[in-house]
Amino acid sequence: MLKLIENAHVYSPNLCGLKNLLIAGDRIAWMGDAHLALPADLSVETVDCEGKRVIPGFIDSHAHVTGGGGESGFASRVPAVELSRFTQAGVTTVVGLLGTDDTTRDTNALVSQTRALRDMGLNAFCYTGGYHVPPTTLMGSVRNDIVHCDPIIGVGELALSDHRSSQPTLAEILRIASDAHVAGMITGKAGIVHFHLGDGDRGMELIRQALDTTEIPARVFNPTHINRRKALFEEACDLAKRGCYVDITAFPVEDGEDAWSANDALLRYLKSGAPAENITISSDGGGCLPVFDDNGHIIHMDIGSPDSLIATLSELLANGLSLEAALPAFTCNAAALLRLPNKGRIESGRDADLIVLDANDQPESVMINGHWHRYQHKRIIKGNYEAAD
Ligand code: ZN
Repeated sequence: MLKLIENAHVYSPNLCGLKNLLIAGDRIAWMGDAHLALPADLSVETVDCEGKRVIPGFIDSHAHVTGGGGESGFASRVPAVELSRFTQAGVTTVVGLLGTDDTTRDTNALVSQTRALRDMGLNAFCYTGGYHVPPTTLMGSVRNDIVHCDPIIGVGELALSDHRSSQPTLAEILRIASDAHVAGMITGKAGIVHFHLGDGDRGMELIRQALDTTEIPARVFNPTHINRRKALFEEACDLAKRGCYVDITAFPVEDGEDAWSANDALLRYLKSGAPAENITISSDGGGCLPVFDDNGHIIHMDIGSPDSLIATLSELLANGLSLEAALPAFTCNAAALLRLPNKGRIESGRDADLIVLDANDQPESVMINGHWHRYQHKRIIKGNYEAAD
């Protein structure tokens, strides 16, 4: 029940210096400078971090937990993402979603997989809907899904400016956004629409029109893949200045591509004058990353991985960004957007979701809700059907 983590160089994400943490059950019960002298008959597991950096667990707000894909025939359906793929990469909270294939996959399957990840110890939530309009739902409306189904916190990923989208009209996305917003008010859940942005020239035009013509708060409109085209990224910075939270995808970017890597995108965003608290980075884990030719034929496919988050963080640090400047995009910014008040920060009273980084910026140990899922580079908890080490 009790764990004492001593000599931790804590980034809350703010640099807190050398601290000691008492974990009680699933919470951080205390953080301070003193070395606690606990009664000898109290069973306490003590860990000496020897000055290693301890950071909040990552919140991955976009992952295809059931597996995505399916865009190149049935055999291109990606299998479900195993628990360890998240936990070993330092992801302690995930939001699952459906993408292009919201036909052979549906909200039933997504909610079930989200609950399965919860049962195995991960903090897991999901969106209702998928690329298309009308959205695929569990109970007939996105409002009912968010209000009545515990893991569902918003809508997404609803596709805009993409040949795979439903070509939604402004009226259609406004109806969905207003339902998400009201459901968020009723429940205290995120109540957002997470928009997939494609390569189309129309970019974020519909979101701008939504902000220009309605009273729906900007935070409800949450575009992702903003770094897939350089012009789209500029549009996203402008929307963030108007109050939207915008999401970078940590997908691979080739040299010469009209795209920013997640590393480049965050560095540019932080210099753009847009609010530092309105940017997040997600993995697109389990999603298929297709490359299309001009006729819409797939010429190549990759699978997104939660590992891309830790790789991005490591790249940012190598480029000279401080850990405290880099971390909010992976942690507390998403917690604020998703209305998860106990997540995203290391503070007493919050949930004990944290990562101990080794000297190479890799997760040496990962704790979720007070349980070690990875400890000193060894996997402690694996999914029910995952192969043994
Ligand atoms: Zn997408």
